[in-house]
Amino acid sequence: MVAFLIFLCIMSFLLVLVVYGTLARNRWGINFEPARCSVCGNAAFSAIRRPASLRQALWGGKTCPICGTEMDKWGRQISSSPK
Ligand SMILES: [Zn+2]
Repeated sequence: MVAFLIFLCIMSFLLVLVVYGTLARNRWGINFEPARCSVCGNAAFSAIRRPASLRQALWGGKTCPICGTEMDKWGRQISSSPK
């Protein structure tokens, strides 16, 4: 019973994190809309999720195949990779 209560606490804590993250658009949030490249506007890659780094695998995000821009799951540019 105690273990269940602890589990419940952890789950509600995670739920609050995800809900807040979705509103605040931080890494805990869930993006329900397909991200679009902020540099070239490309959205064709949104269906295929192929993490290019450990950070992308953990937190989402992708690299634009057109211009090579690395972005988070919200489509915000993180760093531009050298061409
Ligand atoms: Zn792009």
